[in-house]
Amino acid sequence: MTQKIVVDFGLCESNGVCMGIIPEVFDLDDQDYLHVLQEDVTPANEGRVREAVRQCPRQAIAINDE
Ligand code: SF4
Repeated sequence: MTQKIVVDFGLCESNGVCMGIIPEVFDLDDQDYLHVLQEDVTPANEGRVREAVRQCPRQAIAINDE
């Protein structure tokens, strides 16, 4: 079972907090549009992904089990 990172773009306010924590997963482009570069939660990124979930001021990031 793979865990996937899901962003609610209706909630996201593009403040870049998540990108500051783990830039290889979250990236804001020149138009301040957030992209999820790597949607799988892996042993290598899980700790920081969960930190981004906790610190997102809009609670826009979730981890879904599939
Ligand atoms: S921390 Fe939350 S609100 Fe900020 S850019 Fe990331 S997903 Fe959007």
